[in-house]
Amino acid sequence: MLSTIYLMDKSMEETRLLINNPGHFLQAVTDIMSEIVTIIALPSGDILYTNRPSFRFQTHPDDLPAMQAWYQRLATLGDNGKITTEYRVSNDNGDLIYLSAQGRIFQRDNTNTPTHALIVAQDLTEQKKAGLEILRLERHERDQSFLSSITKDLVELKNMTDAMEELGEKIANYFQVPWCTFTELTDDPETGVFSYGWNDSNSPSLNGTYRRQDLWIAGQATDGAAAEVIVTCDTQSDPRLNAATFAALGIGSYIAVPLAREGKFRFLHSITDTKPRQWRDDEIRLMQDLATRIWSRVERARVEEALKKSEQKYRAIFNSINEGFTLLEVLFDTEDNACDILIHDANPAQNRVDGVQAIIGKRVREILPDIEQKWIDRYAKVVRTGEPEHFEDWSEANHRWYEVNASRVGGPGSPLVTIVYNDINDRKTTEEALRNSEALLASVFKVSPVGLGLADATGKYLLLNDEMRRFLPTGLMPSKDDERSSRWIAYNPDGSAIERHDYPGIRALRGEPVPPFTEMLYADDDGNKIWTKISSIPIRNEKDEITGVVTVLTDIDELKRTAEALQDSERQLKQLIRQKDDFIGTASHELKTPVTSMKMYADIVQERLDELGDKGDSDLLSKLNAQIDRLTSLINHLLDTTRISEGQLKLALERIDIKELLTERIEEISRITNHHFVLQAQDRSTILADRERIGQVITNLLSNAVKYSPKGTTITITSRADNDGVTVSVRDEGYGIPEKDVSKVFDRFFRVSANNMDTFPGMGLGLYITDQIVHKHGGTIAVKSKEGVGSTFTFTLPDKIK
Ligand code: ADP
Repeated sequence: MLSTIYLMDKSMEETRLLINNPGHFLQAVTDIMSEIVTIIALPSGDILYTNRPSFRFQTHPDDLPAMQAWYQRLATLGDNGKITTEYRVSNDNGDLIYLSAQGRIFQRDNTNTPTHALIVAQDLTEQKKAGLEILRLERHERDQSFLSSITKDLVELKNMTDAMEELGEKIANYFQVPWCTFTELTDDPETGVFSYGWNDSNSPSLNGTYRRQDLWIAGQATDGAAAEVIVTCDTQSDPRLNAATFAALGIGSYIAVPLAREGKFRFLHSITDTKPRQWRDDEIRLMQDLATRIWSRVERARVEEALKKSEQKYRAIFNSINEGFTLLEVLFDTEDNACDILIHDANPAQNRVDGVQAIIGKRVREILPDIEQKWIDRYAKVVRTGEPEHFEDWSEANHRWYEVNASRVGGPGSPLVTIVYNDINDRKTTEEALRNSEALLASVFKVSPVGLGLADATGKYLLLNDEMRRFLPTGLMPSKDDERSSRWIAYNPDGSAIERHDYPGIRALRGEPVPPFTEMLYADDDGNKIWTKISSIPIRNEKDEITGVVTVLTDIDELKRTAEALQDSERQLKQLIRQKDDFIGTASHELKTPVTSMKMYADIVQERLDELGDKGDSDLLSKLNAQIDRLTSLINHLLDTTRISEGQLKLALERIDIKELLTERIEEISRITNHHFVLQAQDRSTILADRERIGQVITNLLSNAVKYSPKGTTITITSRADNDGVTVSVRDEGYGIPEKDVSKVFDRFFRVSANNMDTFPGMGLGLYITDQIVHKHGGTIAVKSKEGVGSTFTFTLPDKIK
């Protein structure tokens, strides 16, 4: 610089003059120089001279360390050495001046230590400012494009966790920090959750829940506080922070942008560095922009997700519920009268419930022309009032009962209504039937001739019908009714008395298995004793505890007395029958002897008359004889009956030839009748039997056949023998037996009482005795008969008596 001055001088003399007064010369030079010239003392750096005395030369604190290092380096320079540096100072106005300085040593002390240095500095402020502006613009440009790339990512954001991870990485890389976190502030004022975040591979994840007082600056992200960005350049020296916590986490500095919604802090977006860091304004601004955009997107995503979920939920419900579910719009005419309904949506159950298909987009009047106006009015009312309606009603158009829940969708003025409805036709019909049956039951209960009652656990009847009240006017169980219990006496089936604590009701209350009906005698107010039959069963609740009993009481007094009377008369009857049997037995026995004598005498007289040739008297006597035979037969029947009833019928078994016996008896009877007898018998059909008794059977059947068939008709007797024994049948061509009487002919004293049958003599004992004899032989007897055609009696005797 000085050499340039020399070159510019024209007059040597002037030059010499100037040089001879270097102080003035230098002063003049430096005055006109645009450069800033200072002389400083070393090593302190104190300014001894400057050509800009108005400068305050306050070095920017950020540049101080660098300046000190520069002075030290300057001090080590040789005489011709010079070094440059750039630094910032503020001028008198406080403006920041950028300087580019060049320094060299120009004075040393006698130990050759430099004591003074000359520094010539150029003001680079304008240049710098231009450069900085460019930088700023560049940065701004970069920031904007970063912001728009993030915004683009946000638009495409799908899965929040993944998206936040990616965004975190991108933002952290952009700011060159190891952490980028997104913190959610829940309703809990004490904590905050680092919900999403990215960390580089050298740093641990910060995700987790933290106590606000540990990590946050007091007031930061607290509800109601101003949403100011928190910038910490050094956590360890920031008095607002708890240095230890941050040291433990390895956090040196951070920017955190809190965001609020509805006055509540919700979100904190931070970038965090391990080292202290001088955050630039543009970085802070960018963070603010990012946070705002991200949060609003996150919030939107939240809402969308919730919406999607609720929409899905709604759809799922809509599609799966069994009830019909439709979205309707009530249509009004120009006079504001509800005139029709437009169907916007319907779930799958709809057409099952009301049987109408493909209704979406149609009008109700179009689908159901007969729909009653009341339905449209109902929904119109919901639209007008906004009050939900629940009702059950009959639809004439569908011919069904429906249960409907209708509510308006949207606020006042919205014409939309959702209806959830069900076909309750079956229920209504059942209810109706139930009502009828309940009424029926109630009337049955009331008028039931059986006493019915429902008692609680204390034995007090809550419900009694009239019949029950007749016996329990106080409504208390006999066992619980001290006053009236004496009116009751209970009996076991064996007739023994039952103690009061074992009465049916109290047993049921104890939970004993349903006891059988117990007979109890009740004394009414007039002292009349009434027989009853009582049973009680316990009623249990769902916990199996006994809550009461149901008692059934039947008045069996009349029954009981009738049964007793019946028993009495049966006893009496049996007695009479016995007396009668005794009498018949005695009488027939007493008659037997004189009749036998009579018969003997008559036979003698007949013989004499025959010898005398007195034919007229002999005929008369034979008639007498026939009557005596009849009398004898009657007496024999009576005697046999008595024997049978006394179990006295004895058999004298021998081997008999049945054909021979049949022939004998037919011959005997054919003498006194003009019927034709046809015998079809196998030879040698022998059997072990009582000859007299089986003969009696044959004669009985033959004489009945004769008696109950017209004279001259044929009587056919057959006899067959096989391994099982002998079967004999007697067939006549007689009057037959009425069908209703066939089964009774073997009963004692039974006689068919049809027309003209009375004219035949008899006592109804012959077949009875016949049957008894056959059975005594172990055989069977049966009859087949047809009125007007004839009868066939068949008996079978086993080969051996078993
Ligand atoms: P009875 O002394 O009256 O003949 P039975 O015991 O022999 O008594 O017969 C009972 C009744 O069965 C008779 O009164 C008669 O009405 C009917 N009966 C018996 N055998 C015949 C028959 N062969 N044909 C029609 N009716 C008969």
